[in-house]
Amino acid sequence: MRRRIHVGGVVQGVGFRPFVYQIATRAHLRGWVMNTSAGVEIEVEGDPDALDAFVHALVAEKPPLARIDFLEAHDCSTDGDAPYETFEIRASVAQEGAFQPISPDMAICDDCLRELFDPNDRRYRYPFINCTNCGPRFTIICDIPYDRPHTTMSRFPMCEDCAHEYHDPTNRRFHAQPVACPKCGPQVWLEIGAEGGRREAEGDEAIRAAQELLKKGKIVAVKGLGGFHLACDATNGRAVQTLRERKLRVDKPFALMMRDLETIEQHCWVNAAERELLTSRERPIVLLERRPESNVAREVAPGQNTLGVMLPYTPLHYLILADDSMPSAIVLTSGNLSEEPIAYKNAEARERLINLADAFLMHDRDIHIRTDDSVVRIGLAFPPDKREVKRCSGGASVSARVYPLRRSRGYAPFPVRLPLATPPLLAVGAELKNTFCVTRERYAFMSHHIGDLENYETLRSFEEGIAHFEKLFRIEPQLVAYDLHPNYLATRYALARAQGEGLRAIGVQHHHAHIAACMAENGLSAEGAVIGVAFDGTGYGDDGAIWGGEFLIATYAGYRRAAHLAYVPLPGGDRATREPWRCALTWLHRAGIEWHTDLPPVGAASAELGRIVRRQIERGIHAPHTSSMGRLFDAVAALAGVRQTVNYEAQAAMELEACVDQHEPRAYEFALGETARQGGEQSRSGGAPLLIEAAPVIRAVVADVRAGVSIPVIAARFHNGVARMVREVAHRLRAQYGLNEVALSGGVWQNMTLLAKTMELLQADGFGVYVHCLVPANDGGIALGQAVVGARQGGS
Ligand code: ZN
Ligand code: ZN
Ligand code: FE
Repeated sequence: MRRRIHVGGVVQGVGFRPFVYQIATRAHLRGWVMNTSAGVEIEVEGDPDALDAFVHALVAEKPPLARIDFLEAHDCSTDGDAPYETFEIRASVAQEGAFQPISPDMAICDDCLRELFDPNDRRYRYPFINCTNCGPRFTIICDIPYDRPHTTMSRFPMCEDCAHEYHDPTNRRFHAQPVACPKCGPQVWLEIGAEGGRREAEGDEAIRAAQELLKKGKIVAVKGLGGFHLACDATNGRAVQTLRERKLRVDKPFALMMRDLETIEQHCWVNAAERELLTSRERPIVLLERRPESNVAREVAPGQNTLGVMLPYTPLHYLILADDSMPSAIVLTSGNLSEEPIAYKNAEARERLINLADAFLMHDRDIHIRTDDSVVRIGLAFPPDKREVKRCSGGASVSARVYPLRRSRGYAPFPVRLPLATPPLLAVGAELKNTFCVTRERYAFMSHHIGDLENYETLRSFEEGIAHFEKLFRIEPQLVAYDLHPNYLATRYALARAQGEGLRAIGVQHHHAHIAACMAENGLSAEGAVIGVAFDGTGYGDDGAIWGGEFLIATYAGYRRAAHLAYVPLPGGDRATREPWRCALTWLHRAGIEWHTDLPPVGAASAELGRIVRRQIERGIHAPHTSSMGRLFDAVAALAGVRQTVNYEAQAAMELEACVDQHEPRAYEFALGETARQGGEQSRSGGAPLLIEAAPVIRAVVADVRAGVSIPVIAARFHNGVARMVREVAHRLRAQYGLNEVALSGGVWQNMTLLAKTMELLQADGFGVYVHCLVPANDGGIALGQAVVGARQGGS
């Protein structure tokens, strides 16, 4: 009997065909297997029982990096054909218009790591060792199907030994497209930037020279998997400070790389879930609580009690760190100037990083698409919900949840499965932490992290990224979904493209997109409705105001704004985002409290500036209305004396969270007004929303500040108060709309303290709570929400 099998999912570049070859020959089946641009095609001959066992084994024993999304098998006739004599692996065939998911880049596997440090292995200390179970994928792929000529490895002809391994189906490197060795593959070298790129050393010598520079406190640009990093000794405060000054990065935390798990445990507290995440093939940066005795320089993460740490993930990283004389931790931050995208081409890096790095550890394996490191955090000890544990921790027995803060290397372009079918569509995302997404059928291909779309370099990276994704996944969008903010560069791009190509354009309100993203990744059906709690810093509202403290009754098709923080004028507009004292003054004004200089934010402003701000507030000049929860956090942080100005987004709120006294039980109380109307804020669907008044909270904060209550207690009472307010409003909306499901999204929910407190209260009251575990709660997840809303509104 002969059977034809089609397998779809992540099945290319992950050792799938040799795996098929092995299980087929093991069972003495004959036939063939081949890659197509739609997946893997198999034909096998044998008796029916053996064929059934074969299909079962395909799923049950699949290789570690493979993901099977569907499998179709049917018996076919052998009329007239001669029976197959062997089982063979046939050449790839491209199918017009077909597509299939591409594997993300994966950390070096244990087998390769063993060979890397085995003096008898022919790849001993070779920085580009890899196999079908590990190594670069997404960053080196130029087109599909995934074959060597379609990767940046095409310029390295394999030597005889490598070719032998590549063609041997029983070898771990069978059809490993990036396979290489010291004889035939890419090489590393060290350049001294200041000396016109003079080559100082090559190969192992170059790595040792880089180590010596790092030990001396120098800054070395290291070419990695998805771009250049800037490295320095993390235990050397002066080196870290120099890096800050050169990068123009005042105090935003730097990521660290440490040699091994034991080293990480000397610097940070690590639980089982975090350990699993640190050592996973994705190797993200994991936010960990710092141990007080750690000798990592304070300059690495000023004002924070966490450190962002990752383990080595390329052979080159292992070679740099695996040496007892090296510092136990190195800073490994993206190779760029402040807000620009990460440098990823050699010539570009020389040009852009010349004043940042003392030397460059270069190599000649090109990176086709730049990809930053991913950042995740584990949130602990919420009452376990079986479904979420299964979905979020990859099936392992972990009672903690993974919260992505930035989904990029190791995860992108792994698709998110959608709960509804979509037409080919492009969702362009938001302005900050931009990611975009293209969809096809039930797949949403979320892009890698693009960055803040505020400069030309990043915009170009965004446009090139979109073109690359459309090509890789064979998607010609019919629809383009975008944020309503008229000044977002992504929005302008979307509208220009829609006009130029005659595409249908669908504007999606920012907070609706947040909630829809959360619904979609949790698999809510097309008809599902939730109480969406969207808390963030900034999002353009239907009425032109800046929203950000929103309760939406949401489906994919639409939403009703059911409740929100009462509006305050934001004196100075965008400036208030960088100057929390402005937020404090406007809230003091609303709460009817005089601006006395005993209050830290009043003291921070000069009398002259105070007068200007008062005029802005009272006359509404350059003071847009906002319901932003992020700005309320800023106001409280400023009033408590945590910080008056910030150097990066959400810094004040993060530092306020870091202060929270976990044992403080009391809470500040919000007032829930009845449906009073403020000027021009009727929701789109009519019916006035419930107003949430924070003035009583501000009055209580001021009373505590004046009574000398400590910052940790004030911080705790504020967090407790917001959590209780969410429960209270959710109760009212449950009674009003008969909904029991709550979805939490928006950047404010990256605050683990607030999230834990809120979830505890909601779950204790019987609410079903949805949170993010696949895409970030911040604007990095917006594109997914735009996609599902666009698909629902424009699909039929
Ligand atoms: Zn490997
Ligand atoms: Zn070779
Ligand atoms: Fe947002």
